[in-house]
Amino acid sequence: MDTRRIVILGGGESGTGAAVLASVKGFDVFLSEYGMLKPKYRALLEKYDIPYEEGGHTLDAILNADEIIKSPGIANTTPVMQAVISRNIHVISELEFAARYTNAKKICITGSNGKTTTTSLIYYMMKQAGMNVGLAGNIGQSFALQVAFEHYDYYVLEISNFQLENMYDFKADIAILLNITPDHLDRYDHVMQRYIDAKMRILQNMTGNEFFIFCHDDDVTVRELKKIVLTAQMLPMSLNEPQVPGAYVADDTLHIEVGDSPFFMAVDDLALKGRHNLYNSMAAGIAGRVLDIKKKNIREALTTFAGIEHRMEFVLQIKGVRYINDSKATNINAAWYALESMKTPVVWIVGGKDKGNDYNELLPLVQEKVKAVVCLGADNSKLLDFFRDKVEVIEDTHSMQEAVNTAYRLSAPGDTVLLSPACASFDLFKSYEDRGDQFKQCVKAL
Ligand code: ADP
Repeated sequence: MDTRRIVILGGGESGTGAAVLASVKGFDVFLSEYGMLKPKYRALLEKYDIPYEEGGHTLDAILNADEIIKSPGIANTTPVMQAVISRNIHVISELEFAARYTNAKKICITGSNGKTTTTSLIYYMMKQAGMNVGLAGNIGQSFALQVAFEHYDYYVLEISNFQLENMYDFKADIAILLNITPDHLDRYDHVMQRYIDAKMRILQNMTGNEFFIFCHDDDVTVRELKKIVLTAQMLPMSLNEPQVPGAYVADDTLHIEVGDSPFFMAVDDLALKGRHNLYNSMAAGIAGRVLDIKKKNIREALTTFAGIEHRMEFVLQIKGVRYINDSKATNINAAWYALESMKTPVVWIVGGKDKGNDYNELLPLVQEKVKAVVCLGADNSKLLDFFRDKVEVIEDTHSMQEAVNTAYRLSAPGDTVLLSPACASFDLFKSYEDRGDQFKQCVKAL
């Protein structure tokens, strides 16, 4: 039992999970939520008799904490965090806290894009191989809640920058850094290096017993690695040149050279299509080999994984036009891969809450493939100003219905209508899921 006081800021999935774990471990716990709690989280807190408040933060009940667990959504610039920081109270993330209470091996995935896909794929592979494994982090049920009640030998954890920022003693057994491209820069004063530094924390505390899987084609990652001394066993992946040990693609064949004998499979047999997904499959395959999963199981998982909603999800074909939902493309790089994978003329639905985007990076692909740009956002002025004199057709829309109808009108047989917004969804939608669901509904209603 520990009678120290732990205060949790934020009562979503990670916050309430942390509260329950802290309570089970005997801490004096208090949870404070600025907005209103979802009913299921309120019920969870009540079930475990955990004191909480909602609709605001009472500083007196917060600043007497020995340690604070901060939910990833809360920025350091909020008044409550400013008060916490000025008092020098130790702030950790839910993942840091939960990791103290489990000996399970942790496979940790971070990157600007591809985290959920790769995390889900590795989890699927490990389940298929019969391993006792949990799935957590930014996905599904919180890590803390599972640590409180489950007894897994392994966890596959999807880890965001905002979690990493408040992790100190946490150590990954296998760390995967998929890529580093601009995202969430609004939370980093638009200083890219601060975003990068947070990502690189995935490597902290690793020794020669641990493994680091990374993308050798990612310039930022490679440059950052040159700045540090890393003792973890490095396992790079590349589409450009052979990596041994590591993974690469040559002659349309995926090669994984880890352990005593190489693993090969035809790129055509991979369930996940597109260039970006090759990286995700390679990362998962390397992890599989490190975990000593049988080649047969790795192959089967990479061949049969069904993919996940809102990521390059095929919706319908109507009058020869294919409709694709890539609502989860909330930044430039994700939209870049979506456009890059297009093999037909594209009517591109883009826009939403801009996070400091530089659309110049997309311009060559847009000029090559996009026949019409449909802007979808509360305020499309930045997009309109940027693309107006660079594309033939550009339209201003403010609801999904309007955007889909416009795309329908502008498309011809053989085209693809692609929702790949490069922006967050919060200006018009509850979430990217809501945006993707509305897209699918409107398409099905056409
Ligand atoms: P995350 O969890 O990091 O946001 P997702 O797996 O949900 O990543 O995918 C987010 C978006 O990024 C989707 O539009 C997807 O098509 C695209 N994407 C997936 N993997 C990669 C990758 N390795 N590189 C770039 N884009 C990717």
